[in-house]
Amino acid sequence: MVFTHDTEASLLAAVALVNSAEEPDTLTTHDDLVAFLDEHEFTGRRRGDDRELDEVRGLRPRLRDLLTSDRDTAAVLVNEALAETRAVPQLVRHGSHDWHIHAVPPDAPLETRILVETAMAMIDVIRADETSRLATCADPDCGGVVLDLSRNRSRRFCSTTCTNRAAVAAYRARRR
Ligand SMILES: [Zn+2]
Ligand SMILES: [Zn+2]
Repeated sequence: MVFTHDTEASLLAAVALVNSAEEPDTLTTHDDLVAFLDEHEFTGRRRGDDRELDEVRGLRPRLRDLLTSDRDTAAVLVNEALAETRAVPQLVRHGSHDWHIHAVPPDAPLETRILVETAMAMIDVIRADETSRLATCADPDCGGVVLDLSRNRSRRFCSTTCTNRAAVAAYRARRR
């Protein structure tokens, strides 16, 4: 494991959320949001209204900046996010989740909780000087974010779709 479990889980959720904005957008309905939240085991309040969906969708460009900015810029963005939401880190334990950090209450708006969770995870990434583990997909036509948690730092594509497309392109190039 490169980072602690909760940090990796938060980063994976943030990357999935940012990448949902790639065409075709895969976060357009309440069901899409519920599926995302369930997959990433989000606890806390869910209003389930249109505004919540709009807010989470609207958060994606900001999360992209948080995840993909250079280290010094990311540090500024993290500080801004934590100050603006008045985040107070607290160790919590709930359900099957052992001690981890929440920095805003479970009834804070979902958008706020996702932003703060991502900012808290980026604290670890920045302190460990591991921002190189976050990059944009190696496919020039794809804007997806790649989170490389592999030991040998071998991950270059955001999805199996992009990995396969590159493999097919390389195969065609060899045959020419
Ligand atoms: Zn929790
Ligand atoms: Zn990609």
